[in-house]
Amino acid sequence: MKTEAITKFIRDVYDTDEVIPLHAPSFHGREDELVSETLESTFVSSVGKYVEQFESMFEEYTGVSKAVATVNGTSALQVSLELAGVSNNDLVFTQSLTFIATCNAISQAGASPIFIDVNLNSLGMCPHSLEEFIHNKAYLDNEGILRLQETDQAIKAVLPMHTFGHPIQLDEISKICKRNNLELIEDAAESVGSYYKGKHLGTQGRFSALSFNGNKIITTGGGGMILCKDKDDGNLAKHITTTAKLKHKYEFFHDQNAYNYRMPNLNAALGCAQFENLDQMLKNKRVLAETYENFFKTTGVQFFSEPDYALSNYWLNAVFFSDKDSKINFLEESNDSGIGTRPIWTLMTELPMYKDSFQSDLSNSLWIEERLVCLPSSYCPNLKD
Ligand SMILES: *Cc1c(COP(=O)(O)O)cnc(C)c1O
Repeated sequence: MKTEAITKFIRDVYDTDEVIPLHAPSFHGREDELVSETLESTFVSSVGKYVEQFESMFEEYTGVSKAVATVNGTSALQVSLELAGVSNNDLVFTQSLTFIATCNAISQAGASPIFIDVNLNSLGMCPHSLEEFIHNKAYLDNEGILRLQETDQAIKAVLPMHTFGHPIQLDEISKICKRNNLELIEDAAESVGSYYKGKHLGTQGRFSALSFNGNKIITTGGGGMILCKDKDDGNLAKHITTTAKLKHKYEFFHDQNAYNYRMPNLNAALGCAQFENLDQMLKNKRVLAETYENFFKTTGVQFFSEPDYALSNYWLNAVFFSDKDSKINFLEESNDSGIGTRPIWTLMTELPMYKDSFQSDLSNSLWIEERLVCLPSSYCPNLKD
């Protein structure tokens, strides 16, 4: 298929001659109203009603006991890892196919990643690959701690990522975690509005992280959230992301080392307004995904559809080209013509910091990296649902 036919199709869908970005934020609700009101109130920072409102919205929406708003998704992941008991010199299973934030959080928690392959069905962590790595390279010590044979380091957690909002095989991964005393933490940064067997993503792990960065499905400018299954975990997460200050009329007393990772009220106000548009965003994205899917049926370029157990938010639409050359050719030509297409992230195991990390066979990750292209996926007002 010729690049021009695809770029023409994308231009027709978005009905514009301007540059079409990969994913732009869209403000078509009460954003102006709530942000202006916050400015007028002067409560733009660490105090104000919108942070709590935003957290309550997500507790209700996802069904977790406690949601804690943070400055960004990376800090949400870092705190999740630390509260799950990950510390210096520990190991954490994750994917080589992910955005760098996942690994930055592991490093910030003092640990190192072990990279597991993904499957072609979900683009996320492959349970067989995880199982096989544990079987061949790890052992449970007599205290029940999983350790890497080669170094005897403790492996504490599994941090899978739901790529582009498509759910991984959570039941299978959960079972492996239980059998091996591993904490499950979901990187659900891309997954607001995605469901696995009817349950919102980020509700199966003990902790999970969401992101509200500018390129995500809804945004607070920058921001994140820790979803906690357990109320006590949630209270602790709130405490250590807000300087661990004990409540008092006027005194400053902090009872442990902690962070200033709280989301400012100004950002939360934007988030509350964005949340009101979420259903509309999700509907629009499904229509866009169907539009792409139908178009690509006859092209020889393969559209990636949600796994059959999933209801995905289709945060970013993705296609597979037949080989690396046709992928590169398409990326070059489409970007030259003002269409924001992107490859998937360079695999973590190809970055200087992680090239010598422990890893499983990564053939699926490599296969995907060679062929995948993300297509413009912003809210598209001229599509009818
Ligand atoms: C966006 C994102 C994050 C968090 O990013 P922040 O910019 O820190 O909010 C983490 N993991 C993945 C996979 C992401 O896409």
